[in-house]
Amino acid sequence: MALVTGGSRGIGAAVAIRLTTAGADVVLTYQHSADQAENVVTEIKAAGRRGLAVQADSGDTTAVVAAVERAVAEFGRLDVLVNNAGAWHYGSFDETSLAEFDRLMAVNVRGPFVAAQVAARHMSGGGRIINIGSCAAERAAVPGLALYATSKAALDGLSRTLGRELGPRGITVNTVHPGPIDTELNPADGPAGDTNRQFVALGRYGQAVDVAATVAHLAGEGGRYITGAGLAVDGGFAA
Ligand code: NDP
Repeated sequence: MALVTGGSRGIGAAVAIRLTTAGADVVLTYQHSADQAENVVTEIKAAGRRGLAVQADSGDTTAVVAAVERAVAEFGRLDVLVNNAGAWHYGSFDETSLAEFDRLMAVNVRGPFVAAQVAARHMSGGGRIINIGSCAAERAAVPGLALYATSKAALDGLSRTLGRELGPRGITVNTVHPGPIDTELNPADGPAGDTNRQFVALGRYGQAVDVAATVAHLAGEGGRYITGAGLAVDGGFAA
């Protein structure tokens, strides 16, 4: 069974569907989009797997713990955790408030930290934890990303240290770093589209399914000997 945070839309929804086609039952969390989360669950069930949507703000520690525990209680096991839910921030370093800092770090770092902590207690050998980082953690292409990039770099640090700490238990931990991916967060035809494209070696946005394919690789047989790694799915953004 796989738990995908932020599975109602975008990359998380694509990951949930992709893991389903690989044979997994999937629990997904969402913050606001109950209808879209239920649509993804309907797709999971149409593929012959079990699915469940749970409302859980990743910035709310109690809700995160409850979501992981509910997933385990309902499905009896937990094999894969995908920490995908993430908040975005763009703005000058000088004007970033402490409230913005605390909120972003709560969603992008504390939530994944706590989810991994609780999930790992329920995982046996072969467990997989996959964090969705960002190419912004690896390359500061434009100013204005100090807070967002800091949060995603922290997630990368978490993956590397957990890869080492959980390795003896047979649990792998990795980060997938997407480049510009066409979602509601970062639409290819949005205001940042042309700026982003000029940094991408392939010259175009990626699709959510491109990230989902790498997540599925890490979650499956191909990921057995990969841990503590950061994998870019960015069309060459960080090249
Ligand atoms: P979207 O905004 O398209 O979708 C975000 C998903 O996460 C939704 O399902 C949303 O739920 C959920 N979510 C957001 N905040 C929370 C929260 N506090 N608690 C629970 N769920 C939440 O984003 P993307 O699919 O584009 O991004 C997914 C991940 O990939 C993020 O971590 C992002 O930082 C990262 N990323 C994206 C890139 C891109 O270009 N798109 C590039 C690099 C990294 P709801 O529908 O209820 O709001």
